[in-house]
Amino acid sequence: MPAIETLDLTKDYSAGFIRKRPLRALDGVNLRVNTGEVFGLLGPNGAGKSTTLKLLLRLIFPSAGTARVLGRELDDVAMHARLGYLPENPYFYDHLTAREFLNYAGELFRLPCAERRRRVDQLLVRLGLEASADLPLRKFSKGMVQRLGIAQALVNDPELIFLDEPMSGLDPLGRREVRDLILQLKAEGKTVFFSTHILSDAEVLCDRVAILNRGKLQGCGELREILSLGVSATEVVLENPPAGLLEEVRKLTRPAVKTGDRVRIEIPEEADVAPVLEAILRRGGKVVSVSPVKISLEDYFLEQVRMGPEKPPAEQGVARVDKEGER
Ligand code: ADP
Repeated sequence: MPAIETLDLTKDYSAGFIRKRPLRALDGVNLRVNTGEVFGLLGPNGAGKSTTLKLLLRLIFPSAGTARVLGRELDDVAMHARLGYLPENPYFYDHLTAREFLNYAGELFRLPCAERRRRVDQLLVRLGLEASADLPLRKFSKGMVQRLGIAQALVNDPELIFLDEPMSGLDPLGRREVRDLILQLKAEGKTVFFSTHILSDAEVLCDRVAILNRGKLQGCGELREILSLGVSATEVVLENPPAGLLEEVRKLTRPAVKTGDRVRIEIPEEADVAPVLEAILRRGGKVVSVSPVKISLEDYFLEQVRMGPEKPPAEQGVARVDKEGER
């Protein structure tokens, strides 16, 4: 049984202030997420990622299409007690402490008192918040709030966890911690469905991904398979290239870029890599690295935007992918 299955899932919002017009945020999306996998929903801002999560959590309702979660209809209340959810940019009452807030979250799931205390203590340790457990949340940094958000998403020991941009706003250490936590959850047999616009996070974490753009599914499968279509060149980095070498290979390469004593050249056609390397070795050049230049997620989104529906709705921002998400 798949953990999530959507059938032509569609959502229209009403956009505009005075002259209302429909805005199709999600357009006939068919997805299948297997139990126990880490699944990434990728897409630029405005692609429809949060809308998908909110529909599956029944925070909003589809305009057309259906979905099943943990094999149940979306209106099955008992099924929702088996889910966890971290919203994008969570906000919590900042006069509460982390311990009070997690206790409150546990009460919403009607966890018995002793079990609630045990789980709250466990989660405070697991998310590295035990030292700050009794501080009011207004003293928390963005990273601590995000970790608390993840802790509340786990308070009911859910089978399926939805995380909306869980790495957003975190420093590299915080992102690493969240990545490790997601992998631990997978090792425990949980299913994790998370949205991101950062390729490197998806690359290290996801068994499979779906790529959304302007509400439409552009591809679904292993990230490697989807993006390997785009190996666009081979990059060779040299140290102190011998005189005459760059002139010799110029016809086969793009213009060289010099940084300090290193020179980077790009060979556009795969077939031409061997003659370039042969020339480098013959002239006694020192090769630092040879690597395929793959299409970045940013390139992919931009290409999809170019090939996408004729005219984007005015409200929709065109791809903005953080530089950190490249390659
Ligand atoms: P993402 O999470 O990929 O950034 P969203 O699902 O938040 O994208 O939004 C998809 C589109 O729907 C965007 O164009 C956004 O402006 C629009 N949208 C989202 N929520 C609403 C809403 N409540 N009312 C009107 N339009 C909305």
